[in-house]
Amino acid sequence: MTPDPPDTTAARHVIVTGASRGIGAAVAAHFVALGDQVVAWSRSGEAPPGCARTLSVDVADAAQVTDAVRATTAELGPVDVLVANAGITRDGLALRMSDEQWREVLATDLDGAFYCARAALASMVRARRGSLIFIGSVSPFMGVAGQANYAAAKAGLVGLARSLAREVASRSITVNVVAPGFIDTDMTAALGEAGADLRALVPLGRAGSPADVAGAVGFLASNQARYITGTVLTVDGGLAMGY
Ligand code: NAP
Repeated sequence: MTPDPPDTTAARHVIVTGASRGIGAAVAAHFVALGDQVVAWSRSGEAPPGCARTLSVDVADAAQVTDAVRATTAELGPVDVLVANAGITRDGLALRMSDEQWREVLATDLDGAFYCARAALASMVRARRGSLIFIGSVSPFMGVAGQANYAAAKAGLVGLARSLAREVASRSITVNVVAPGFIDTDMTAALGEAGADLRALVPLGRAGSPADVAGAVGFLASNQARYITGTVLTVDGGLAMGY
């Protein structure tokens, strides 16, 4: 039997977008605890303690994304892990949804994820290793009234991830999506009553925590997941099971 290759997870260059709070902050803290060099991005420039770098980057701005990746690869070497987590909601029924509501969500949640992946992949392809993880959502699988923009963006991430997974598989780079359900963060706090209704549908009987999502992301970025690519891993307490 061929022995497992050595675990190369020590002190990786990990970029986490939207790391100032919620899921992104928990993901960044997870990799910090593993001893990785975490580069935390957000517009506010806040980050959990222990990150190697904290950058103010708007992921919807392709030039900012390219510059930020170029700067940290010059210092820390190729990107080993990118977690494209930054996301927003601008909910509203489609009939009354403004062009701005539609565009802002697509610009951050889908365009932004593409810009980040494209920039990080350049160094991963040269290094012939790496892991891209997009934070999607169960919203496109279930359909959620009021989230046409958000569901479209998150559905787009699945197509993006699977196409990229095929494009870079020969370089040993994996590309996956983590699709959270109802997780306790500022984003779900804003849902009010509608959030309480959604939470009541979770088979495991509780909302998820940001740390629940971070665990799944950490696994997909680990050597144990090196044969997993092009998959969508739901982290939802069973909320979207069967969809
Ligand atoms: P959150 O608490 O609202 O945090 C969003 C993060 O994204 C913040 O760090 C924010 O930082 C950053 N961000 C927003 N726009 C950005 C931009 N243009 N450029 C850079 N950073 C930006 O949300 P969350 O609940 O943790 O959600 C994180 C991800 O999980 C999102 O993609 C969301 O769609 C997804 N998700 C969440 C849930 C849930 O139940 N919470 C469920 C499914 C999927 P700044 O404001 O400082 O920029």
